[in-house]
Amino acid sequence: MKKVVFFTDMNYLQEALKNFNISSFAEKKVPVKLHMGEIKNKHFPKPDFVKLIIDELKNSKADPFLFDTTVAYPGLRHYVSGYHQVARLHGFTTKKIGCDIVIDDSGVIQTVESRNYEVAWHIINSTHIFAISHVKGHVASGMGGAIKNFGMGGVTKETKRKMHNGSRPVYKKDACTFCGVCAEVCPFDAIKIKNNKLKQNMRSCFGCGVCIENCDSGAMKNKDADFQYVLSCAAKACVQDKNVIYLNELKRIAKSCDCDPFADPIICPDIGYLVSDDMVAVDKASLDLINKVKGNVFEKELKVNPFKQITYGEDIGLGSSSYSLIEL
Ligand code: SF4
Ligand code: SF4
Repeated sequence: MKKVVFFTDMNYLQEALKNFNISSFAEKKVPVKLHMGEIKNKHFPKPDFVKLIIDELKNSKADPFLFDTTVAYPGLRHYVSGYHQVARLHGFTTKKIGCDIVIDDSGVIQTVESRNYEVAWHIINSTHIFAISHVKGHVASGMGGAIKNFGMGGVTKETKRKMHNGSRPVYKKDACTFCGVCAEVCPFDAIKIKNNKLKQNMRSCFGCGVCIENCDSGAMKNKDADFQYVLSCAAKACVQDKNVIYLNELKRIAKSCDCDPFADPIICPDIGYLVSDDMVAVDKASLDLINKVKGNVFEKELKVNPFKQITYGEDIGLGSSSYSLIEL
């Protein structure tokens, strides 16, 4: 059973970290993996909160730096210089946070379960990593937590693009009953059904896989693999053989992710913070706590079962879904 520590007050951070061999982080350069928020998004982890964690890592004699990767879609965060601009705008500066801000755009290929993932250079070249993951909904994975923070956020934009493309739907007309469910659930309006004909607009398709998940007839299949499966595999490519501590922030739990400029509404009240050294356990505990407060809220709101990433993660040896919760 893995340990997961729960607390609601950041004054308990030091006590929480003592459970996870934080002393081994001393004298190490430590990337602190953080999504610094898409422009106009309001819910990403706030600089004052992030600084508390950076200060605590420094107290433990580690040498931390804030770290993220460029994204696949167009916009400022597609480029290193543009991401730095957004980071500055959101208050992530060396002066304010007290450490360097590093954005990676290149990586090294790692193979997990026979697929290749290009993992960011600074992850590959580190032995110790700290992850700050804001827990919220996500259009393709139901929930975004630690697995999403690495599975998508720890790889290069080429790999991100490949993962989304591989989870796009391939339509099998012979199996289709024209029930209309896929068109109804598609968040990007990419499917139209009229007179027993289904039309897909692949230019609008984001590869979220929601249509596949909701088609009971097997008429929609992934081009390559389920999005949550490749997410778990990519996360494993990032953290295998590393010492990682995961902090999940269960606050400002919005319907959509920090990549979304319009992530509202908030769909669950604030809960607190979870820390573990097991990525699957910390995400499972996050989902369980959220479901206690707001039963199945992600599945109800997004029509995606977020537990798939947990099951896949456990199957491929990324971590354990069995945990004991220690409350501070
Ligand atoms: S959900 Fe499946 S069966 Fe229903 S219309 Fe879409 S593809 Fe056809
Ligand atoms: S994968 Fe997502 S965006 Fe693409 S058609 Fe299916 S539901 Fe719509």
